[in-house]
Amino acid sequence: MRMQINLQRDTWLRGNATPCERSAKSRCVRHAATRPMRAVLLGPPGVGKGTQAALLFARMGACHLSTGEILRTAKCLNACDRTPGLNTALEYMQRGELVPDQTVVQLIQERTDCLRCHAGFLLDGFPRTVEQAKALDQLLGNEHLGLDAAISYYLPWPVVVERLSGRRTCRACKSAYHIETLPPRQEGLCDECGGPLHQREDDQPESINVRMQSYAKSTAPVLDFYRDRGLLVEVSAEGAPEEVYQRTLQSLENRVKVKPTG
Ligand code: AMP
Repeated sequence: MRMQINLQRDTWLRGNATPCERSAKSRCVRHAATRPMRAVLLGPPGVGKGTQAALLFARMGACHLSTGEILRTAKCLNACDRTPGLNTALEYMQRGELVPDQTVVQLIQERTDCLRCHAGFLLDGFPRTVEQAKALDQLLGNEHLGLDAAISYYLPWPVVVERLSGRRTCRACKSAYHIETLPPRQEGLCDECGGPLHQREDDQPESINVRMQSYAKSTAPVLDFYRDRGLLVEVSAEGAPEEVYQRTLQSLENRVKVKPTG
């Protein structure tokens, strides 16, 4: 199953100044969540956080908010429309390195409307360091909001590397494919919109190594941060997306009072 991640997320991608229809209360009523779910999704790159976020969004309504996607969207802007801080951030991203905490936290601060959203949120790719986790704690505290869970997906390293190196994404609609396990019907073209598929720059072998190392060094301690707060929910990411989704629901059962619609 290939997930199409094509939501209306203008505020997230462009900042608080851009209104987003998702924040309207009526959108939440469509879903059967008894209250919005607010969670962070943790795990190494390529573990399938984006796919799980799309499934959780489709059935529970909480918005998929990826910091990597903010940066990739910014990359498509004219250089003169990007701030110097954003240009530097993109250089880090291209090398597969983590963008400095201060820059990433500022991006989140510029998007606090998304944290307040009536539909809830699923943060994907943030926090990636303990400093970022502390900053998120503070931001949520200022808004009198709490996290329901920090869902940590795990997989053996060789499987993660294999998933990342075979990943292909549609430039237009962001649908995700895998050259072996989920190929498009026509090579190089998206099944959904016919757009060209590409390999993300940071999914090239040299960047993958750097990303895996920075995950082990900087992001693994974030798990302890949430474990200490009683929020960590660990889920195996092995198997098909639907199996992982069902496992996620079971693990969340006693934490988030939601009735998924699908
Ligand atoms: P992702 O799509 O989450 O794999 O992120 C792609 C790239 O964006 C990462 O390899 C980093 O260079 C950068 N990035 C995304 N989120 C963060 C974050 N929270 N902290 C630092 N760098 C980030």
